[in-house]
Amino acid sequence: MKSAAFWRTTEAGKIQCELCPHHCVIAEKKTGLCGIRRVVDGSLVAAGYGLLSSLHDDPIEKKPLFHFHPGSAIFSIGGWGCNFACRFCQNWQISQAVNAQAQSFRPDEVVQAARDQDSPGIAYTYNEPLINYEFVKDCAQLARSRGLFNVLVTNGFVEEKPAAELLPLIDALNIDIKSMEEAFYKQQCRGALAPVLRFACQAVAVGRHVEITNLLIPGLNDGAEQVGQVSAWMAANLGRLTPLHLSAYHPEYKMDIPSTPTAVLERAFARCKRDLAYVYMGNVLTSAGQNTLCPKCAQELIVRQGYTTRIVGIVNGACRQCGRPADVVM
Ligand code: SF4
Repeated sequence: MKSAAFWRTTEAGKIQCELCPHHCVIAEKKTGLCGIRRVVDGSLVAAGYGLLSSLHDDPIEKKPLFHFHPGSAIFSIGGWGCNFACRFCQNWQISQAVNAQAQSFRPDEVVQAARDQDSPGIAYTYNEPLINYEFVKDCAQLARSRGLFNVLVTNGFVEEKPAAELLPLIDALNIDIKSMEEAFYKQQCRGALAPVLRFACQAVAVGRHVEITNLLIPGLNDGAEQVGQVSAWMAANLGRLTPLHLSAYHPEYKMDIPSTPTAVLERAFARCKRDLAYVYMGNVLTSAGQNTLCPKCAQELIVRQGYTTRIVGIVNGACRQCGRPADVVM
């Protein structure tokens, strides 16, 4: 069993995990809220180390990342468990369960599988990757040494110190900002907003490529003022060139509110464009809000249709029409 990082023994002799802001105090043989960090013989172990639920080649646009190696297929892995319990989780079969009998992989097997697929990198995704911190870090270290990049798709709910140790190994992130209201995080997700915002700022501050996803749920977080709070916060804290993906919700897990209407996404899109240069619509059948336009001259830079991506207006990293840098990592 792999030892876990970031835990301590309290003055009362209890084991407390310090990886994420839940700071679970965990009894012998029990796990924390995430379900994969367990106390064994008085120590915290990473019980989910190497246990994977999914391994796929995916378009990088599916993460979603629109400004990082556009058009590439990326080897993507997921494990089990989550430190959130979102009532609308779209991947609840793996996030709200732990299969201890799942096939186990070593980091070198994951990296070799990515290379066998000719993938330029590895995405840690599907469930919350940060709770599998030790495995992600070991894979990312090895992947980096073999010339692959690392992508984290995350809820961003992690303490500052572990984040500081992991971020240098991560090239790009998609971070969920589910709402700008603490009450939403508390009532709908069993989480908290402030640590997520702090993590997003931390990732940008150390120069990582960051894109944000905001899943819009009718009646809960889809008001024009609510989505405007997300884009305004992003512009002020991450920069107005940070891409925002407005994503349609569909009923899943414990939530039966009907799917987000396209008109709601379009209204949110128009509102967020006031603050940000790059806003997209996802998880919905529409041709609007898919393409990347030059913010200076409106030249089409990247055209997307479903998961087919064509780079049409970037020459030597700049807009072919006006020469402005394209804000895209190629
Ligand atoms: S990572 Fe898991 S065990 Fe650790 S504090 Fe968070 S939920 Fe609890």
